[in-house]
Amino acid sequence: MTTALHPDRDAPPGETAPQPYAYRRRPLEEPDWRRFPGWRDVTRQEWESAQWQRANCVKNLRQLRRVMGDLLDESFYADLERDQAERATMSMLLPPQMLNTMDASSTAAFYADPVRRYMLPVFSDRRTDWPSHPLASRDSLHEAEMWAVEGLTHRYPTKVLAEILPTCPQYCGHCTRMDLVGNSTPSVDKHRFTIKPPDRLGAMLDYLRRTPGVRDVVVSGGDVANMPWPRLESFVDSLLDIDNIRDVRLASKALMGLPQHWLQDDVRAGMERLAAKARRRGVQIAIHTHVNAAQSVTPLVARAARAMLDTGIRDVRNQGVLLRGVNDTPEALLDLSFALLDEAEIVPYYLYMCDMIPYSEHWRLAVWEAQELQHAIMGYLPGFATPRIVCDVPYVGKRWVHQPAGYDRERGISYWTKNYRTALEASDPDALTRRYEYHDPIYTLPERGREWWRERAEAA
Ligand code: SF4
Repeated sequence: MTTALHPDRDAPPGETAPQPYAYRRRPLEEPDWRRFPGWRDVTRQEWESAQWQRANCVKNLRQLRRVMGDLLDESFYADLERDQAERATMSMLLPPQMLNTMDASSTAAFYADPVRRYMLPVFSDRRTDWPSHPLASRDSLHEAEMWAVEGLTHRYPTKVLAEILPTCPQYCGHCTRMDLVGNSTPSVDKHRFTIKPPDRLGAMLDYLRRTPGVRDVVVSGGDVANMPWPRLESFVDSLLDIDNIRDVRLASKALMGLPQHWLQDDVRAGMERLAAKARRRGVQIAIHTHVNAAQSVTPLVARAARAMLDTGIRDVRNQGVLLRGVNDTPEALLDLSFALLDEAEIVPYYLYMCDMIPYSEHWRLAVWEAQELQHAIMGYLPGFATPRIVCDVPYVGKRWVHQPAGYDRERGISYWTKNYRTALEASDPDALTRRYEYHDPIYTLPERGREWWRERAEAA
């Protein structure tokens, strides 16, 4: 028996209507690192060694030149050097794994590369009209004000963020913790933790033991891949002994930036021990990584994610950052999400808007642009793997971009409310009715809005 097609249907059976985004699977690819003059003789065994990757990270112009040989024009190095001297909020630290995913076929291609744009920013990338928003600040999320003990941010009622160390195996130009993470740069003298690491971690555990309302700990930094495994395992193991802790999330961009770390035998064996203990105690452990572009998802990244899932952890999820010039189109976001989900078993979870830190204006998008992107990516991915684009509103926390309580498009000010108190507002009767502000980049505003900010800046 045949079923008659609906008379209004114009696509024949087996064909679908044309779509704004055309889904297709794209096999992952590990680009050949031997195309870089400095790595011509690097063997696969060396490439897949975490020690080799760490020892050969690019940390300065001299090392970059040594890898690139004559691939780039001198003008690029001058542009990079000026940025390092005058603008950069993060020092340079680029594992070979990440550099290898960039297109270095010409200087122009390197300039245009999405991963280069956020991992190796140059002076000419940045805005010259408003390089920083006038209200941009170090620690723009005010995390340190909400520390319950040094490095333990208690911002939401039931969850905390434990910054267990201030370093990463890679430094991202847009890092929201630029205040604390990494080495000082000419523009930013970094703050330092003052309490010795074992005492600090001990104080965090004590706080969690005496705060039964907290059930969820994001173990972060920095990047947990930079903590020697025995110390990380001991900290997480202690967390698993605390009755009220039901969710542990380990934050590691290195799952993508240095997947070789997560493929090491001792790390896999240790994670297996933690996953087994978590299972016995009914606790969920997951890894949260940070991938911003589809090209970063290579076979080694997929292997590392698989290796971690094989240890018995609950999930590997991605929290990317929405960045202009990197992933600010529906195609880029859907390509990234499908590469993660289909090819690496990583669940696309959040996309954060870039925070209002100094010199980040060229990366930031306006809230209305983020809303349009959220709309454009709905309906292609399974609901559980459709990333939510969120704005981390100072003093509020993550809000979905469609949640502002008001929005002045002319001045680029969105207004947000919150439904919980931090310790800062324990006795503040207005905390839950106050409207908190977030600001669009000024260059995205209509002329009258730009004029308003210029006048305000002059008056200040
Ligand atoms: S990995 Fe995370 S914490 Fe480290 S520099 Fe990048 S954004 Fe910052």
